[in-house]
Amino acid sequence: AGPKVVIVGGGVGGCTAAKYLRKLDPRIDVTLVEPKAAYTSCFMSNEVLSGDRTIESITFDYEGLKRHGVKIISDRVSVIDPEKKQVVTDGGERFPYDACVVSPGVDFKWDAIEGYDAEVAETIPHAWFAGKQTVTLRKQIESMPEGGKVIIVAPPNPFKCPPGPYERAAQIAMYCKHHKPKAKILILDPKDAFSKQGLFRQGWSKLYGFGTENSMIEWVGAAGGGKVEAIDPSTMTLQAEIEEFQADVINIIPPQKAGKVAFASDLVDGDWCPVDKMTFESKRHPGIHVLGDASNAAKMPKSAYAANSQAKVAAAAIVARFNGLEPGDPTFVNTCYSILGEEHGISVAAVYRLDKETNVIESIKGSGGLSPMDASDEQRKREVTYAHSWFKNLIHDMMG
Ligand code: FAD
Repeated sequence: AGPKVVIVGGGVGGCTAAKYLRKLDPRIDVTLVEPKAAYTSCFMSNEVLSGDRTIESITFDYEGLKRHGVKIISDRVSVIDPEKKQVVTDGGERFPYDACVVSPGVDFKWDAIEGYDAEVAETIPHAWFAGKQTVTLRKQIESMPEGGKVIIVAPPNPFKCPPGPYERAAQIAMYCKHHKPKAKILILDPKDAFSKQGLFRQGWSKLYGFGTENSMIEWVGAAGGGKVEAIDPSTMTLQAEIEEFQADVINIIPPQKAGKVAFASDLVDGDWCPVDKMTFESKRHPGIHVLGDASNAAKMPKSAYAANSQAKVAAAAIVARFNGLEPGDPTFVNTCYSILGEEHGISVAAVYRLDKETNVIESIKGSGGLSPMDASDEQRKREVTYAHSWFKNLIHDMMG
């Protein structure tokens, strides 16, 4: 029998690694452990909030991976034992490995905002894991009165999907523009700057009157007292640094850290998992590769495309090692699209290389950039099409 790889987490990083390991070397016995029967992608989940898509349209089963010969185990990993080289599940099973891939995504720091916890999040959703809460948030926006107010509480850096909260504001506005034109969406932010800020402000201005008296979207950053300290769910009131804010619908995106299993398995240093970026092998325990949001992959953002790119680098490195070869020099890619209106998309793209001396992933000069500020209406419209086709291609690449 060939070498065994056990994969923890059937999200972007885990699925991509599973598929590419099998494609690179079909002798490898690949087992993927994931508690959920299907994957609901966070990417494109903001479009569920505008009503442009259903939650079903972003939910995918694991049949494609099974066709590639990946064994799917429906269970949660409680801990990885690096001494015995075994993955241990809540169900009490043990899976021995020659190499382990861990891509559990993020977890929340629940103690950051007083009064907000996992139970409160059932009614005041974070919707930062796509699924039930995305649908709850959508329903709350639909049943909000005309002239109602939505507050989005943005998280501090680093967090998954840096442009996500700002795209979310636009997607909610896209719905309100047609159905509740007097609604207001306020973003309270503990930061003074955010991803693609110039492009967001321009798009919000054009589509939703940002910067005018009648703007549908308002943003309050750190300097303006945007950091939220506490919530009173019974009155739907937020206590921010300077003043109180009240709303009909509140969406709190808490501060983030690596997924629970990374902490249980001693893979973290601070909030995230340190890795050798040549191979994404853990700097704490050899033989375990940590990918995606849970890893510290600076300077790549925590995005689906980044996790997909890192998974291919890790898969190639694992296969090289099984065959007694040195891993090749990695390059990485990332593009993040944001859809601000039916015909208005923006993006940021980069191609990266590893600086081996500093173990920092640097973007290659001249390789990418932002969509131009002076793009034509046609270009903005085309970026929406690009975003949708990127989504289709990424899902196919990771699990199709
Ligand atoms: P995930 O995809 O989150 O997968 C983690 C998996 O691990 C899950 O299936 C989970 O159930 C499983 N798991 C966790 N713990 C265990 C355990 N103990 N045992 C077994 N399994 C476990 N990225 C983009 O590139 N483009 C976008 O447009 C974009 N839009 C986004 C919009 C929103 C609203 C959000 C929230 C995110 C968006 N992202 C986007 C970011 C993207 O979703 C993540 O960066 C990506 O999913 C990271 O992949 P991952 O493999 O690290 O984690």
